[in-house]
Amino acid sequence: MPKIKSILNDNLTTLNLLFVMNCYISKLLNLTNLEISFNINFGNIKGGNVMSNVREFKTESKQLLNLMINSIYTHKEIFLRELISNSSDAIDKFNFLSLQDDSLKTNEEYYIEISVNKDEKTITIKDNGIGMTEDELIENLGTIAKSGSKSFLEKLKANSDNINLDIIGQFGVGFYSAFMVSNKVLVKTKSPYSKIGYAWESNGEETYSIEEVKKTEHGTEIVLYLREDDDNEKFSEYLEEYKIKDLVKKYSDYVRYPIMMDITKEVPKEDNKEENETIIERETLNSMIPLWKKSKSEITDEELNEFYQYQFHDYEGPIKAIHMNVEGSLNYNALIFIPKKAPHDLYSDKYEKGLQLYSKGVFIMDKCKDLVPDYLRFIRGLVDSPDLSLNISREILQHDRQLNKIATNLEKKIKNELEKMLKNDRDLYIEFYKTYGVNLKYGVYDMFGAKKDLLKDLILFISSNSKTFTTLKEYVERMNEGQEFIYYATGSSIEQMDKLPQMELLNDKEYEVLYFTDDIDEFAINILMEYEGKKFKNISQGDLNLETKEEKKELEKKEKTFKDLLSFIKDSLKDKVSEVKLSSRLKDSAVCLVSKDGLSFEMEKVLAVMPGGNNSMKAERVLEINPNHNLFKALETVYEKDKEQVKNYADLLYTQALLIEGFKIEDPIEFSNKMCDLMIKSAK
Ligand code: ADP
Repeated sequence: MPKIKSILNDNLTTLNLLFVMNCYISKLLNLTNLEISFNINFGNIKGGNVMSNVREFKTESKQLLNLMINSIYTHKEIFLRELISNSSDAIDKFNFLSLQDDSLKTNEEYYIEISVNKDEKTITIKDNGIGMTEDELIENLGTIAKSGSKSFLEKLKANSDNINLDIIGQFGVGFYSAFMVSNKVLVKTKSPYSKIGYAWESNGEETYSIEEVKKTEHGTEIVLYLREDDDNEKFSEYLEEYKIKDLVKKYSDYVRYPIMMDITKEVPKEDNKEENETIIERETLNSMIPLWKKSKSEITDEELNEFYQYQFHDYEGPIKAIHMNVEGSLNYNALIFIPKKAPHDLYSDKYEKGLQLYSKGVFIMDKCKDLVPDYLRFIRGLVDSPDLSLNISREILQHDRQLNKIATNLEKKIKNELEKMLKNDRDLYIEFYKTYGVNLKYGVYDMFGAKKDLLKDLILFISSNSKTFTTLKEYVERMNEGQEFIYYATGSSIEQMDKLPQMELLNDKEYEVLYFTDDIDEFAINILMEYEGKKFKNISQGDLNLETKEEKKELEKKEKTFKDLLSFIKDSLKDKVSEVKLSSRLKDSAVCLVSKDGLSFEMEKVLAVMPGGNNSMKAERVLEINPNHNLFKALETVYEKDKEQVKNYADLLYTQALLIEGFKIEDPIEFSNKMCDLMIKSAK
């Protein structure tokens, strides 16, 4: 098909760019703009007292705080997970900076420390991470910073009628969750870039205050003043060692830094084994092995689900989790997740694909895009590899050979897992495919078909056979004896394609037809060219060559007989069509429009609506008329009686054929007038 090839080649680069925007435009239109603007309010409340550095929370922060405080949510315990995770991030940041900034180099051990004071009813979480400057305190704790909190609030807004408070626990709601259990929170913090330490304090209502404080070590110390126990909640339980140990194990076991706590123990006395004495021993509560470093047999599905929801702020588990421990010439651990629902901005240009990247458990970057091919842009997850050097700059990293190898491996692994899912759990695969199939088809088409062999067995189409999804392999296996092509129809819906006049012959001959409903389908198939030696054929394009020898002869005879009539019709339609012929594909319908081999009608439509689209590329139109239809007999009669009238008939037939193909009518008024004339005449 040289024509298609040249058209595609000319336009491929533009198409690549345009498709992401265009193919998904309908999906985009469904999105509501969930953006919330976050400004920082620096206005101090003047209260006469010069030292009272009191500031107001921003509106969104107030909303979230209000929700935290009044939450009837039962899993308030997640506050500890949130604070520990902030500490761990803060140490990550310090560590990362210390690799580039010699002034930050220290020999100290990183730690997160939890302590309780039963008299004061306080819990303190302390770390030696990056801490915060005064400005950072205002910016980070005076307003919502965390993406998890933002999407959490968005979720609540979207479901305001039906608030399911369970979703609190599934989002990373961050620092403010401290107010679920405390009526006052004190944050003492010092950044290595600030000489002075600062204390931030708030009861989580309208305001917070910031004051200077004596602190020499960099890092942050958060003191929670626990609420009084009430009928619903025993906050004092959080002061118990066993409870804290449980919570750390449950939620924070894989945190990479030691979570320390002084544990009170009863042990036999050295000098008198009969008697016990109370000692205090510092213990590390977490195993510190990141989840992805554990071997497959050690990880449960629940752990993977929980980890995914927490790490990637989703309120439900993934449709598929893939865990890899690879050792050999290349070493890495990876956790890959396919979210159940596509991220709401997946098809917007704001969306950033990528996997989190770690080296030896140290966080390097959040969205390493080179690990993910475009067509898998929906996957989330992380890769941790000791083979990557931490010192290299991020730009260099993107061209790292090791990284490219990991990316290739991941791609193959994901492909294999999807193949397995298709084979072993077809329902799940179909669920996946309904959400992400268009991306895979884009993958076949992208980069001049470089990935077509990798992906061709993962793409599905609905078929006329059973109206369910089928693979190309299954289609080919079911092909009729002597069937040469894989037939497909294009259109906006299955119902509409079923009614296409062109479908009649295929149904009559009991040939299976694939329905193409996505814009990308025909482009992808044209890049694929063939499957197991079978070429693809659009049922609305070119000659189908499905007639028997006798039928062919019969048709040729008729074409000779009606040569004059057919060329009269062609002449009256001028350039609108390139040919008018008798049809062998129509059974019950009177006319249809088909395109010659080359650009199809669907491709013409897609190209025309693309941003900066091309209206000049038109499929070559052929008007086919059913010689066995009564209408053709009527045409013969009119041609004999009143030739001029045939021009109107030709126009009407052509317009009808356009409508059937889903094109706009060129002149609707003229069409309507001609229809009226005809009706009036037939009533006379
Ligand atoms: P997130 O951690 O996702 O950004 P949070 O609401 O939990 O959201 O925290 C807001 C910000 O406050 C963090 O991004 C971080 O900059 C800062 N922060 C919180 N806890 C600490 C800490 N222990 N040390 C340093 N900075 C912190």
